[in-house]
Amino acid sequence: MADDQPSIQVDLSGQVAIVTGASRGLGESMALALGKAGAKVACVARNAEKLKATVEAIQAAGGEAEAFPCDVTKGSDVDGVIDAVTEKWERLDILVNNAGINRDMLLMKMTEEEWDSVIETNLKGMFLFTKAASRPMMQNRYGRVINITSVVGFMGNPGQANYSASKAGMIGFTRTMARELGKRKITVNAVAPGLIETDMTGAMPSEILNEMVKQRVPARRLGTPHEVAQAVLYLASPAAAYITGHTLAIDGGLTA
Ligand code: NAP
Repeated sequence: MADDQPSIQVDLSGQVAIVTGASRGLGESMALALGKAGAKVACVARNAEKLKATVEAIQAAGGEAEAFPCDVTKGSDVDGVIDAVTEKWERLDILVNNAGINRDMLLMKMTEEEWDSVIETNLKGMFLFTKAASRPMMQNRYGRVINITSVVGFMGNPGQANYSASKAGMIGFTRTMARELGKRKITVNAVAPGLIETDMTGAMPSEILNEMVKQRVPARRLGTPHEVAQAVLYLASPAAAYITGHTLAIDGGLTA
């Protein structure tokens, strides 16, 4: 996967990472990049079968990984993953809060269920995982938390009131956590992808997507999951120690 695309060199040997939403799309690419850099990777999503493929891809690349099936909206599931990971690998260095969903609908037709499910997964899931992960990170006086938000958290987008509110909320949470956890040497940053080639954008009508890229993306193309993963890899590295509370757009200039 993405072996032909340029990659940065980062050494995460001896470190342990959790990636939520690791079974496909951006999360799969991030888990693979962290695994190739030497981190032991705990791959989280609800569907255990699909997680297996990510774990096998990391192992095939010479890395170490294990699947931890979990619903990020359930506190007991989340606490169970943190306990299992720290028991197995005795530390936790990196958390990537990537699991996310969208349920797009114009406001007048949006149901309470569509609102709640997006807020619960995207915002509450990040809160639960960050809270549980901060304990071992604080004990170790080291940590890297990376929250995957979206450019719609800055820009808004018709039909995405629930999704854009959750993504803007993630940015506020990121800034607050940077302030709370900074003195323990834990950095907390966000990455805001624009239009990236995944199932999420694949579900959009291609003529609308192509027109958006042509009119609004200076780079004139979709981004790749690999390009987003490289930014995550940098923010996850010891080299990024003095960056915290920042949101990095990976969007080909869409929000420039
Ligand atoms: P995707 O292909 O739909 O993958 C979503 C992942 O999240 C899957 O692994 C899914 O696995 C997991 N997930 C969903 N609900 C979950 C839950 N309750 N508990 C545990 N895992 C859950 O999405 P993607 O396109 O890769 O996007 C990944 C992240 O990037 C999302 O936060 C998204 O908002 C953000 N983003 C994407 C784009 C883009 O262009 N694709 C742009 C901006 C931001 P299960 O269903 O098995 O649980």
